[in-house]
Amino acid sequence: MATQRVFTGGQADLSGQTINELLVGDVVSRHPLKWSTICMRCLAASTALHSKLSDRSARCLGAGCGRDTIREVLAETPAKVRRQQAEKDEAQRREVEATAAARIQKAEAEFTDAASKLARTIRERIATQRDHDAYIDPATLGINMTQAEAEAFNKREAALFVKQNPSFPVTDRNLKALGDYFDRNLIRIVSAKIIAAAVTRLGSYGLLDQPEVKTTPKAQPRPYVNLSVAPLPEDDEPRKHVGLDLLTGEEREFTNFQVEQMSGSEFSRVFRLKRSPAADGKEWAR
Ligand SMILES: [Zn+2]
Repeated sequence: MATQRVFTGGQADLSGQTINELLVGDVVSRHPLKWSTICMRCLAASTALHSKLSDRSARCLGAGCGRDTIREVLAETPAKVRRQQAEKDEAQRREVEATAAARIQKAEAEFTDAASKLARTIRERIATQRDHDAYIDPATLGINMTQAEAEAFNKREAALFVKQNPSFPVTDRNLKALGDYFDRNLIRIVSAKIIAAAVTRLGSYGLLDQPEVKTTPKAQPRPYVNLSVAPLPEDDEPRKHVGLDLLTGEEREFTNFQVEQMSGSEFSRVFRLKRSPAADGKEWAR
């Protein structure tokens, strides 16, 4: 008859023994032979194979049992995971930002390149050919004058222009540039308004000597900006001018070069210039 004792075949009764940290309890399975165990360190209840208890390889399987360093690491894990995730997110965000910034920069560079190419083309045309956007003064249209009358008229208007624009440099280069411009565009009767428009037009493409910029700081603040003699700093130091981006409607910075490449009307729109009170009633628009 079978008995309750199962430890036949030379298998030792381990009940009550402590093997490693495990206190062995009762048999829980016969095939394979397994014992209940209680860990004396963490009090975790478990089972262990007889064979492993016999060769003393059985160990508590409780997570982190007796392994202080691992326990610490595990305790830290949620914070660490969060930190690592945050670092990863931050790196990803930076990468996305850098990519976007690079794209914008490239687009801006391309736009600037195209814009300056166009500006160079226009500049070349204005400097050498007929300017289809040359200003026409309605007041001079349909007027008939003799050569002598025209010369006298032009002289008076030139004096008027100089009086209205005292900082305009009357240099040989400027006089020649303006005279040639009027010749190319077959403008015989030259009013002060026509001169002002031509100065703006040629000046915005860097085809005129610009007034010297007085650097005495704020000695006499200008009550208004005079479009025809808008001073462009000509020092080597690149300066930034804050104006309105006509494409986006946002404020942004413009370099000296970009400012110089602007047409008169672009310039006035970008920098939202007001008409000078001295030029009351005069139209600056072409
Ligand atoms: Zn344990």
